[in-house]
Amino acid sequence: MIIKNIEKIQERIANACKKVRRNPSEVKLLLATKMVSSEDIKIALNYGQTLIGENKIQEVIQKYEDLKEVPHTSHFIGHLQTNKVKYAIKYGISCIQSVDNWDLVLELNKRLSKEEKTMDILIQVNTSFEESKFGLVPKSTLEFVKKVSDFKTIKIKGLMTIGALSNDNEKVRDCFKRLKNLQQEIKNLNLNIDIEELSMGMSGDLETAIEEGSTIIRIGSAIFGSRY
Ligand SMILES: *Cc1c(COP(=O)(O)O)cnc(C)c1O
Repeated sequence: MIIKNIEKIQERIANACKKVRRNPSEVKLLLATKMVSSEDIKIALNYGQTLIGENKIQEVIQKYEDLKEVPHTSHFIGHLQTNKVKYAIKYGISCIQSVDNWDLVLELNKRLSKEEKTMDILIQVNTSFEESKFGLVPKSTLEFVKKVSDFKTIKIKGLMTIGALSNDNEKVRDCFKRLKNLQQEIKNLNLNIDIEELSMGMSGDLETAIEEGSTIIRIGSAIFGSRY
């Protein structure tokens, strides 16, 4: 099923790209692997997938040994507590997509400096204004990016958002448009950072996200089945 489902997602990516004349190679597929077993993740990796994302550091640590033997890239996509930063660095996370507060930035810089390492990050933005969601409010994002761009240890690569939880497709689209607009505003600041990545779109809204410029879609349930 996993392989069939990946093929279906690739087809959905291709169709969405065709509609807006984008090249499918511009859209990376990230497998959202929360609550997915190492065995199932390996099926996808052995089939040629290369990018996974976990939500909980506990799961990153649990699966680390199992997955070490299969080449892949691992992002962190969940809310990261400051006291877990050290594990993200230690257990092979190459990009934290969910940076949204200053304490996290300071802790990252402290740990990375000590180990003479760098970390890619995306800034998470709460584009739906839903209170349950993490992320910076859009109007605070520019100032935050400006401050973070001063750190040599932390490489800002783009922005991440979760679309509104809504059956109204236009509401979801507005979220993605907001993220794209913010990216342009940040580019206009000429900060000497490379902010090309837009991580947006999940199983239910990947087409809308791709139409609005997504470069990373994060897919869980449509590949691995419902978690509930
Ligand atoms: C679980 C999760 C996804 C994937 O969601 P699906 O609807 O299962 O595709 C994407 N992004 C984040 C941050 C997630 O936690």
